[in-house]
Amino acid sequence: MTEHLTIALSKGRIFKETLPLLAHAGIVPTDDPETSRKLILDTNQEDVKLVIIRATDVPTYVEYGAADMGVAGKDVLLEHGGNGLYEPLDLQIARCKLMVAGREHWPEQAQRLRIATKYVNSTRRYFAEQGLQVEIIKLYGSMELAPLVGLSDLIVDVVDTGNTLKANGLRPLEKIADISSRLVVNKASMKRKHARVKSFIDKVADAVRKRQEEAA
Ligand code: AMP
Repeated sequence: MTEHLTIALSKGRIFKETLPLLAHAGIVPTDDPETSRKLILDTNQEDVKLVIIRATDVPTYVEYGAADMGVAGKDVLLEHGGNGLYEPLDLQIARCKLMVAGREHWPEQAQRLRIATKYVNSTRRYFAEQGLQVEIIKLYGSMELAPLVGLSDLIVDVVDTGNTLKANGLRPLEKIADISSRLVVNKASMKRKHARVKSFIDKVADAVRKRQEEAA
């Protein structure tokens, strides 16, 4: 009997950039998630399915074994905490930086800075390490707006080109972490389906290496 493999992915950037890596491992989806409403996509391999979910839900699906593996941004993994997950491979895609941004740098003695972010845990950890007490305001999007309307002093968000910050009169101030997408694997799947999972990881690792060599 062949073992089934379920891989969790989110739509958009991660899906597009993961496709060539999957293809290198011999896996090609037979539906396009951008046009299909299906949440479970078939692939050219009968025993491999892709589940299409929100990026922030990927670690949860993999943690509980609803998916054997998944692709998630390091920003999402830092926030989730990574319980029950192996993170065997940096896919080097969807690279950006998790940054503190604002109009200007905060004074050293700043008291109770207000910070708008969807990255509540990473933000709390970062400022605690600096010995700064901050008030965190949880938002679900458009963080750049918060300082403009007086909702917060600063924001914590992922930044790529910095154009979005600039367009809103903000600038990157401090880097919290370098971000890229990672392959994550359920710990039980890694044991029970070891040969299958290991072979998949090796093929994807090979694709990542080839991509890096081509880019160099
Ligand atoms: P930027 O290129 O800095 O203007 O980024 C454009 C928007 O995309 C911003 O709102 C960022 O928060 C978001 N963004 C940039 N890179 C990533 C990424 N790798 N993953 C998720 N969101 C991103």
